[in-house]
Amino acid sequence: MRCIFCKQNSDSCVSVEHIVPESLGNTEHILPKGWVCDSCNNYLASKVEQPFMESLFGRNSRFWMQVPNKKGRVPSVIGLYPKLRTKVELFQAGAGKLLVGATSVEDRTKLDDSLEKNPNGNFYVPVTDLPDSDYVTSRFIAKIGLEILAHRCLINPDWNKDLVEMPELDELRAYVRRGNPNLIWPINIRRIYKQDFLFADAECSGYEVLHEFDILVTERNEFYAVIAIFGVEFVINLGGPELDGYHSWFKNNKGQSPLYKTN
Ligand SMILES: [Zn+2]
Repeated sequence: MRCIFCKQNSDSCVSVEHIVPESLGNTEHILPKGWVCDSCNNYLASKVEQPFMESLFGRNSRFWMQVPNKKGRVPSVIGLYPKLRTKVELFQAGAGKLLVGATSVEDRTKLDDSLEKNPNGNFYVPVTDLPDSDYVTSRFIAKIGLEILAHRCLINPDWNKDLVEMPELDELRAYVRRGNPNLIWPINIRRIYKQDFLFADAECSGYEVLHEFDILVTERNEFYAVIAIFGVEFVINLGGPELDGYHSWFKNNKGQSPLYKTN
């Protein structure tokens, strides 16, 4: 067996790869050991996933959706207390409660004094609806994109070799594994439902979908990975850094999401 990113033999590797990081709440979509080698698994966690998780969108989504990381902690967010012009840190305390803390000892004294005198006031917290279309987001989605395609190949063990040897994917592999700060691989980003939207089905009255994904193959035989994370849809062309084919597909399909296409 070989690694889908670096193509090295991965028979002795032990890591399983989470397609969407565990810290974003994914416990079910996993590539078994060998599909991503240990060395790529480590590299991707620290250089590709971590920067996205620390982005404003990553932190905010985890904070508001209360998604704990592997250590069971929900990240805090930094806000502003305009009355004192100081930063404050907000923590989730369960049951719709928020805890507010200062970010330095000096601010803590000021905050305590101020709240003691007058407990009324506002905190401002930055909110971001969509992640930035930047290098961090592009590489993160490119990693997920190739892994979604690998996930589709799990049904046949021979397809590992086929996937590793597809030259059409080499540009994407290099972008994820080695990086290229001069290229922002284009990703189509839009919100398709509200972050905490509740889906309903026959068995349960409402459930939140943290993430879902699919592969779209267009009439031009281009392969796109489509993923929704907390209601934001990302589309990436796995064959090269352009989206023209997707834009015409999108027009022909009247703006439907490939995840929810009805015909
Ligand atoms: Zn590798």
